[in-house]
Amino acid sequence: MANPGELQAKLISLGDSYSAQLPEKLNQLEQAFNQLPVKGWDEQRFQNLLSLVHGLIGSGKTFGFASLSNLARDLEIYLRQLALRKVSLNKEQRNLILESLQELHQASTLRDVSLIDLSGLIAVVQASQDAGAPRRIFVVEDDRELALELKIQLGYFGYDVSIFNSLADFMPAMQQTSDVIVLMDISFPEDHLGGINAMKEIQQGREVPLPVVFLTAHDNFEERLEAARAGSSAYLCKPVNIGNLIDKLDNLTSPKPQTPYRVMIVDDSVALTAYHASVLEQAGVSVKVVNNPFKAMEALQEFAPDLILIDLYMPECNGTDLARVIRQLDAFVSIPIVFLSAESDLDKQLFAMGLGGDDFLTKPIQPQHLISSVTSRIRRSLMLRSFMVRDSLTGLLNHTVIKDMLDSEVAWAVRHKKPLSFAMIDIDHFKKVNDNYGHPVGDRVIKSLSRLLKQRLRSSDLVGRYGGEEFAVVLIDADRTTAMKVLDNIRKDFSQLRHLAEEKEFHVTFSCGIADASQFPNGAKLCEAADKALYKAKEAGRNQTALANNP
Ligand code: GH3
Ligand code: MG
Ligand code: MG
Repeated sequence: MANPGELQAKLISLGDSYSAQLPEKLNQLEQAFNQLPVKGWDEQRFQNLLSLVHGLIGSGKTFGFASLSNLARDLEIYLRQLALRKVSLNKEQRNLILESLQELHQASTLRDVSLIDLSGLIAVVQASQDAGAPRRIFVVEDDRELALELKIQLGYFGYDVSIFNSLADFMPAMQQTSDVIVLMDISFPEDHLGGINAMKEIQQGREVPLPVVFLTAHDNFEERLEAARAGSSAYLCKPVNIGNLIDKLDNLTSPKPQTPYRVMIVDDSVALTAYHASVLEQAGVSVKVVNNPFKAMEALQEFAPDLILIDLYMPECNGTDLARVIRQLDAFVSIPIVFLSAESDLDKQLFAMGLGGDDFLTKPIQPQHLISSVTSRIRRSLMLRSFMVRDSLTGLLNHTVIKDMLDSEVAWAVRHKKPLSFAMIDIDHFKKVNDNYGHPVGDRVIKSLSRLLKQRLRSSDLVGRYGGEEFAVVLIDADRTTAMKVLDNIRKDFSQLRHLAEEKEFHVTFSCGIADASQFPNGAKLCEAADKALYKAKEAGRNQTALANNP
């Protein structure tokens, strides 16, 4: 292989011509979408659309278009779900695809060559990170051993950690930088609230407070209060639970939800709807007002709300009837419907709920109550919707989806003569973890492995939760030797992770089996082969990675 510098230069120039071709590729995509029949299902055209979308995933990544690649991956997953059903797309589905195409257009102008992925050979930690999110951590801690341990542990999760053992070292470094997360000890030899005081000073000149997580040896109210005043994002007690800390850091670095929630209000009272709309809009919700219930269906299709607020008593058509009509539409069977009314009669409220409403808000409604009941209901319903694809504990693809994606990825790889590997991972002696430390601690271990996999694999790879403590990974464009290297590194790092349960420390390992599509050219065979290899790894003593035997 050429040296990385040369290779990178070559990729950049190849990327220039790729970049020039992108508008044409996106045009083709749009045409392929427009050629889908409005009614009925055309398998060939749909597969054509799918393969064009698929084509953007790998190449996008190679040439520095990481977000394009990620968006294409999401769209592909969505399209594959639709392809399973093979029925006409409804308006909501078409709109979702159209929105994705628009997002792809936007992403096609975002090129970050620093994210160019030289892998296929090596999993590049940075490539799977969202561009722009700070992953740099300053650890300020006078206990040198603890600081070093934090650096090592956070390093496994893709964080770039710098250590400062005194406030005197730390303060000047803060002059040079602004996009870091500070992990700050509270007590220093010279000042028992030294960490807090230093952060107060730093936060003073800033418009947006710097994210800071405080570490403390003594949990008390005074400290918590002062920490909050210093802009703390979190307050953690020693000994530090790495799982909790990573959760906090991931929260701080993950992008916030981009699109506002959408609420449609159907109410004949113009004044009241205007009031409710303005309350919700102030909370950042996007609102569509409909004062004539006969116009509701049209607006529903167009606006595609996340939740509908309906007045129970309207002269032309009452709210319960409208809810019934809405529930008859496939696309809206699960949309949350909340009734609004002056009605305080419990029986009537229950009757209304029986007819398809999810909740009942009695007018006059406190603004705060309106906002919180609407947003919490939307959050839950969006979450439920995503659960159909993603596992709830880990956010990884669920069993059905990962198997489905494996089938189609293998078919694609075989057709295009590209390498692909499949790995099955099973945590070792996991029953003991549960028995010794309890189920919630077991859950945390599962989460930590899922995070490690997500962060260490390329984002074009697919990671799924296959079962309880079993994971499945589809490594795109990687043969078994490459897959072995990548996964075995992850295995070693996972075994080094420090897990904590009530101040007791323990380590966990996993075993892994790998098979390769050049030897096992379909999803079922790959699965079986990887599973056998996993069994081999277990038999050979666990905490190891094994390749499938030749077929
Ligand atoms: P080995 O794989 O090394 O042979 O041993 P093991 O102890 O991991 O064996 P096995 O696969 O039989 O046990 C898996 C255990 O994982 C059984 C089940 O109680 C537990 N488990 C499954 N799903 C979850 C989960 O979501 N959370 C927790 N905490 N435990 C789970
Ligand atoms: Mg196990
Ligand atoms: Mg198991």
